[in-house]
Amino acid sequence: MRIGSLFGIEIVVNSSWLFIFALVVWALASGFVPFQTAELGAVGRGTLAVVTALLFFGSVLVHELAHSVVARTRGVPVSSITLFIFGGVSHLEGEPPNAPGEAWIAFVGPLASLMIAALFWLVGRGIGPQTPAGAGLEYLSAANLMLAIFNLLPAAPLDGGRVFHALVWRWTGSRLQATRVAGMVGRVLAWIVIAFGIVTTLMTGLGGGLWLMFIGWYLLQAGSAETMGAEINQALRGLSASDLMTPPPATIPADATADGAFEQVMRYGGRALPVMLGERILGLLAMRDMDRLGETPRERAYVTSIMTKLDAIEHAAPEDDALSVVRRLAMGGYQQVPVIDEGDRLLGLVTRESVLRRIAST
Ligand SMILES: [Zn+2]
Repeated sequence: MRIGSLFGIEIVVNSSWLFIFALVVWALASGFVPFQTAELGAVGRGTLAVVTALLFFGSVLVHELAHSVVARTRGVPVSSITLFIFGGVSHLEGEPPNAPGEAWIAFVGPLASLMIAALFWLVGRGIGPQTPAGAGLEYLSAANLMLAIFNLLPAAPLDGGRVFHALVWRWTGSRLQATRVAGMVGRVLAWIVIAFGIVTTLMTGLGGGLWLMFIGWYLLQAGSAETMGAEINQALRGLSASDLMTPPPATIPADATADGAFEQVMRYGGRALPVMLGERILGLLAMRDMDRLGETPRERAYVTSIMTKLDAIEHAAPEDDALSVVRRLAMGGYQQVPVIDEGDRLLGLVTRESVLRRIAST
């Protein structure tokens, strides 16, 4: 759900965020002691809880905006910020160009949280910590301090993990090496968080411990996805579509009838095969194209009338960037992307297997 935009960056709220927001409001309204002891009606308590929760999530947003604005000044475009159950995430459309850039983009988030913590603390002191509003501000100050400290844990995708990655990158001079080291440290830390959650649960019952286990699990998932993504990016950097392609396992001549053509497709495990007129590709034939046969008997239908035609297929030029071709393959859920030249001549197919083979060989 899109709620607006700031500095040209879209702000999106995931539905899981509404759940955690409601939980925070409820916890504040019913369990936060300074709100209970003060002479407030139920409405006053509720209002104070909602305002406090909104200020807290506003702080998370400022944290993310700090990342996004610095990313942009470092030449990395940012499309949006999403708030979800574990906080916020900035969607960077690219990678930081160098180690200092990466370190700064990551570090300004916790820095912003620290500054917000100091600000809330000062204002809370000014109002007086005995008043409900002052107590609310002290609570916000502590929450932002926790946010800053937690995010500085050196486990990617936490900010501390990225700062750590940038430092190792700087020391070793190798981005990939840094990704591996930071990934390993991140996994160890995630397991420590999980173990801590289990111990807490055993000692105090479900609640905070369960939450820690969730966070640890999330770190584990997100961390390994990040390491894998970085390895793939690294392996494909500087390559083009022609480096990834493999010859088609078989082809179907344009004058084939449907019965022979589908037999051929079956023989090659049901994967789509190119339909060729000489060296030119006219389209692809897959098992699902059988639906187009209708009532026509197979031996009387020509393959060219039931295949998926070339202009309806995602294809690539040999010089296309390898990463963009892999994205097309993954996003569109295609089994293959044909690589063709200007004359529609088929040069090869990029398939999931051919990509994996290429990555494994580097
Ligand atoms: Zn952050």
